[in-house]
This record gives sequence, C-alpha cells and structure tokens, in this order.
Amino acid sequence: MTDEAVLERFPAVRLDHLNKQYYLGLLRHELLVNHCRACGRMATPLRPICPSCWSSQVSPMPVSGRGTVHLLTFLHQGPPAPGVDYSGGFPLAAIELAEQPGLRVEATAAACPKAAPKERDTCAKQ
Ligand SMILES: [Zn+2]
Repeated sequence: MTDEAVLERFPAVRLDHLNKQYYLGLLRHELLVNHCRACGRMATPLRPICPSCWSSQVSPMPVSGRGTVHLLTFLHQGPPAPGVDYSGGFPLAAIELAEQPGLRVEATAAACPKAAPKERDTCAKQ
C-alpha cells in the first residue's frame, strides 16, 4: 500500500512518518502498537522510542484489538465525517488491550451494547 492510498483514505488526518504506519495498518484491518525489542513492552501511540526503557529498538506490531472497556461514551456531536451518524450517539471507548495490562487505545467501538456495559464487557475495535 502506498503513502498516497493513506492520504486518500484519511484526508482529515495530519499524517507523519510515525502515524503513517498506524493508518497503513488500519487499511490492512490491523491495529498496530509500538513493540520494544529491548524490553518487550508494548505502548501506544507509535513513537520512535520506548516509553519504558527509552530504547530506539521499537517497531509496529499488530494486536488483536480485544480487551476490557474502561470508558465508553456516546458522542452526540462532532465534526462532519462521511458515514458518521451522531443522532443515536457515536460510541467512543478506551480499551485496555488483552495483550498487556495498562496498554490502552481510544477508538470508536463496534459490537458494543448501547446500554451501559457491565464490568468486564469486551468490545472489538472498529
Ligand atoms: Zn523498552
């Protein structure tokens, strides 16, 4: 996949050399996190160094996108975007990924209940 494909698919995102890998992953239906080859920790977002040991031996690594919902809110307004309908609330979640305690991502959520989720409910990242 090319840089032009990423720019075309995400025109409202300010892309750089670091987050470009993240968006390329989304186009491949992969959620990428930073993986440190020095200490083994994973972190988000993609950065040139590990926040745990400061090693520069980091690279993007796909994760499942499954985990525990820590925060779920429904946005009822926001910037216009194709295919986004705010009328029923647009789900936004902070999810602790199953791969590592404390590894969290924030994203729109799919397959989540509209009612308040019960403790330990899981969602898939969209
Ligand atoms: Zn590290």
